[in-house]
Amino acid sequence: MDSLKLWLRQRLGRYSYSFVESYYFCRYQLLYRGNKRICPCCSARLKKFLPMRTRAGILVPSVMCPRCDAHPRHRLLWHYLCAEHGELFESKLQLLHVAPEFCFARYFRKMKNLYYVTVDLEMSQVDCRADVCRLPFAEDSFDVLFCNHVLEHVPADREAISELFRILRPGGWALLQVPIDRKRSQTLEDETIISPKERERCFGQYDHVRQYGTDFQGRLAGAGFAVEILAYPDTLSATVVEQCGLDPDETIYLCRKNAANADMLRMV
Ligand SMILES: [Zn+2]
Repeated sequence: MDSLKLWLRQRLGRYSYSFVESYYFCRYQLLYRGNKRICPCCSARLKKFLPMRTRAGILVPSVMCPRCDAHPRHRLLWHYLCAEHGELFESKLQLLHVAPEFCFARYFRKMKNLYYVTVDLEMSQVDCRADVCRLPFAEDSFDVLFCNHVLEHVPADREAISELFRILRPGGWALLQVPIDRKRSQTLEDETIISPKERERCFGQYDHVRQYGTDFQGRLAGAGFAVEILAYPDTLSATVVEQCGLDPDETIYLCRKNAANADMLRMV
């Protein structure tokens, strides 16, 4: 990608993030300061997390942080990153963030140790507009990748996973989270299901193209990733899980590109 264009978009992105941050900060100060909940993403002490209405119209209680917009899955990942990946906050790293979540991007953009690039096909406030199946970056470009709750929207998800593997450097790691139905051993997908209503019924959301099962790990491994599934909430006390509003059943897919795997795939 043209480096001047990338630089300009990164600067513009910072201004828009500052505006949203100011709004959330005022809202938090005026209405939601308290001592019942703690958000690991922004360290806010809160009266409560806000409810959220799903696209199907169902009201789910205690979801969003009013200070940074983090959901339970974001809070879990940030807690994990702070506890287990100190290098992300200290070392010089190149980080690519696909479909950047505000609660993470607000920090990553300010971290001087990171060369941070955001990418998405549709979002306007990203550094680079691109399809995750055809990323405009050389192979082995990034040390760390974040691509959370994206693949369930992508028809050719195996292509996207391979592309992510290609641009990750050997020795690098990625967090590739998707919604998983743990009762399902095999992923449900049917490319003839295209109406939003049917997708909602079959895949859980109108714009999802599949419902992943526990075989998701196989798709990641098929591209070359070495995958660890971490039951991270089990390592935390019940008090922390409750206070931080975490999902005790959520797991983290930590994907590594081992040098040996990368070499073997190049030879195929
Ligand atoms: Zn927060």
